[in-house]
Amino acid sequence: MQLSTWVRVTCAVLALLVASAGASAQSRAGAQARLIAEDSLIAATRSGLAVDLALSQPAPFRLRVLAAPPRLVVDINTVDWGVTEIDTTGTGVGAQRLGHLPDGWARLVLDLTAPYLPEATEQKIDPVTGSARIVLRLNRTTLEDFEMRAQSEALFTAQTGTALLHPEAAAPPVAAPRKPVVMLDPGHGGIDPGAERDGVRESDLVLQFARILREVLLRRGLFEVAMTRDDDVFVSLDGRIRAARAAGADLLLSLHADALPEGMASGTVVYLLGDEASDDSAAYLAERHDRADMLAGVDLAGNTDEIARVLMAVAWQDTAPRARALAEALITGVGEAGLRLHRRPVQSGTFTVLRAVDMPSVLIELGFMSNPRDLERLRDPDWHAQMAEALADALEVWQEQDQAVQSLRRQ
Ligand SMILES: [Zn+2]
Repeated sequence: MQLSTWVRVTCAVLALLVASAGASAQSRAGAQARLIAEDSLIAATRSGLAVDLALSQPAPFRLRVLAAPPRLVVDINTVDWGVTEIDTTGTGVGAQRLGHLPDGWARLVLDLTAPYLPEATEQKIDPVTGSARIVLRLNRTTLEDFEMRAQSEALFTAQTGTALLHPEAAAPPVAAPRKPVVMLDPGHGGIDPGAERDGVRESDLVLQFARILREVLLRRGLFEVAMTRDDDVFVSLDGRIRAARAAGADLLLSLHADALPEGMASGTVVYLLGDEASDDSAAYLAERHDRADMLAGVDLAGNTDEIARVLMAVAWQDTAPRARALAEALITGVGEAGLRLHRRPVQSGTFTVLRAVDMPSVLIELGFMSNPRDLERLRDPDWHAQMAEALADALEVWQEQDQAVQSLRRQ
């Protein structure tokens, strides 16, 4: 009977891992799940042990028991513990060790004072706040039964290392932090050339610029860089966001050099996602970019699932101010490099490509091909180099500020 319980529990764990896969995309970048220590508890119960881990948002987790001595291992991908210990009550609770593994998993190892096996395991999501609760209930069993069900420690360590499994096994030094990944998104491409002036196509121009910016960023060594396209191909707006997610991007820069019908706009402007356009030009540009998608037959229907919507709203609260700070840093960088700015350099619009709620995204109009002086600059390799250095400077400044703000928020 106990064996079938264990099988059921194991299946539940697998199901959770699958069910949480969507949420993990949310927690990937920027808004990493945090332990809410004051709502978390490890407590002895009449028949065993209760472990409740309150998280700021859902995250995939895996559960193992190891024998000799009996231990419970809870790995969560990914969570910031923020504390060195979770509150315990009752005398039956053994020592615990918390740490972060180099591959992004966070680990809790609990020394069990008796052979306890997981009886129930669940992750509950609060539909209102988007927060989550991993609820584990362990029941007392015989040592023989426990050892039969425990995973081989040799196998476990071969797969995940020995971190925290023994009291003397120190937490692994948190590996050199992963470099943030910048997703560069050269606008348009393929059947959609973007703006065209004097035989110059926006799609070619921004691709050329993206390659230069990539090179500058890689040479400086602080970022990893990925691109939504590195060729003259059509990529849907939705596909650009998916590519950014697939690359584990921490931020997305969509690069453009559009033309405006009135031809008056000039200089660099950074657009943020807004509920409505800040002016007619923003409305025109957003509509124009969406139209290319519709021409290519892309379905823009959004996900209306209620929980997804709530999770998105929660994530957006984190992301919106980070995106604004990014836009302001970029504009400051361009201004400090002495490059021409638009008279209103930060604006907003309903740009589909900026709709990822879990990573700061901005759309940069490097200049406007409809303005002859801008066009001249946009064709100048020296200007490209200066602009790429200016944006790289700005990204470094923003990254440092953003890190500081994020770690303050976690405290
Ligand atoms: Zn464009």
